[in-house]
Amino acid sequence: MEGDCIFCQIAAGQAPANVVSETERVLAIRDIDPQAPTHVLVLPKEHHNDVGSLSAVDPSLLAEMIATGTQIAENECDGEFRLVFNTGRDAGQTVFHVHGHVLGGRPMTWPPG
Ligand code: 5GP
Ligand code: ZN
Repeated sequence: MEGDCIFCQIAAGQAPANVVSETERVLAIRDIDPQAPTHVLVLPKEHHNDVGSLSAVDPSLLAEMIATGTQIAENECDGEFRLVFNTGRDAGQTVFHVHGHVLGGRPMTWPPG
């Protein structure tokens, strides 16, 4: 656990969150500032900074996150969703604990702004 990491604190039960699903290794929570009817963050309980570093050390954990997001989208938005992993400040990453944004429930434009 990284002391000042909000997602580590949520995963440890030390900060509140609206939990959508939870397994031994993966947590899914509603984003506090939703950008779509479904906006769920899928994250590992273990701290990794971003998706690239996670994929290098534990690809099965990344696969479990993707499967979790897919299941949530099937439950909430007919299995149609966008899965976003922002990496680095210029890409919009603000929380440096890897998380996938599962976005769905409305039509989305491409490319994103
Ligand atoms: P990023 O910009 O790093 O890709 O995404 C971070 C996301 O986490 C943002 O969409 C932001 O609204 C969300 N977020 C930040 N702090 C919290 C929090 O304490 N709880 C929850 N549920 N979401 C958070
Ligand atoms: Zn963390």
